[in-house]
Amino acid sequence: MKKVFCIGELLIDFVAENQGKNLSVAKEFTKKAGGAPANVACAISKLEGKSVFVGCVGDDPFGDFLLNILEENKVDTSMAQKSEVFTTLAFVSIDEDGERDFVFSRGADKELKYDSSLKKEFKNNMVHFGAATAMLGGNLEEAYSRYFFDALTKDSFISFDPNYREDLWKNKEEAFIKKCMPFIQKSHLGKFSLEEARLLTGKREMDEACAFLHDTGVAIIVVTLGKEGTLLSTKHFRKTIPSIEVTPVDTTGAGDAFIGCMLKQISEHDSLETLLESEEELTQIVSKANKAGAITTTNFGAIESLPTQKQLDF
Ligand code: ATP
Repeated sequence: MKKVFCIGELLIDFVAENQGKNLSVAKEFTKKAGGAPANVACAISKLEGKSVFVGCVGDDPFGDFLLNILEENKVDTSMAQKSEVFTTLAFVSIDEDGERDFVFSRGADKELKYDSSLKKEFKNNMVHFGAATAMLGGNLEEAYSRYFFDALTKDSFISFDPNYREDLWKNKEEAFIKKCMPFIQKSHLGKFSLEEARLLTGKREMDEACAFLHDTGVAIIVVTLGKEGTLLSTKHFRKTIPSIEVTPVDTTGAGDAFIGCMLKQISEHDSLETLLESEEELTQIVSKANKAGAITTTNFGAIESLPTQKQLDF
């Protein structure tokens, strides 16, 4: 089984307890671990895969809290770094209309320093670039690009999730697209929401968007469609794979559970070529990943709601 290196942010999400209030009036907050790449690393290890988290937290009690959660979930944290800068914090509330109120105090995640010793580890392994904060500058952005180059030179399987956050990129969409394109061009697997696929390609229709993305170089494209399942596209076929029926209570982390489950299954494969030739196998992989995403929506929170292998097999 290959290792999956997940590079990017790990942060504290302070979630306003009294939903229906905005942040200016919310009084109580619950401390949760957040950060898409960290969620993906946990999704993989909860499914008994091998994941390594590469990111930076503060050398403070919040940083300890976050790394402990990853370790409890059996993620390898030996490549995680600690900085004198305080752990990154996000404050989130959801109002009556489901609108998110979000403020972000960026800290240690941007301090991730490139470590050349990782390069040799990438050989015959997989690297997932799924950070929401990597394109926002800091050492992380430089480390991210250098790790991407290393993954390319070591023939790693490369997965990319742009993790677009409107709150962070309002009126700077063009810059976001420009920063993502070099990653998309060289990734084997690209995971997009409908909104991301449209934003990045400028195409409304998914047939056109997928054709555009394949032309740039991505071999496997998945566009997540919430309860409708996932659009799977390769150069040979394109189809929507339905999800299972659930009663969702909180969709946080569904996308991370989905991609984590895909990566875990791909990590058990010997060759990308064989995988790409097998429509049946890719369909099964996405179908199982849909189930992982669906299960995650049935509980509150992200990491705590990610399915175990037993739940997935049930
Ligand atoms: P995120 O918002 O976490 O970045 P995303 O927008 O990529 O994630 P979703 O489309 O919400 O992710 O969910 C990922 C996958 O989980 C979907 O493709 C689908 O298979 C499954 N899923 C999500 N919501 C539901 C639901 N309500 N019912 C069934 N399956 C669901």
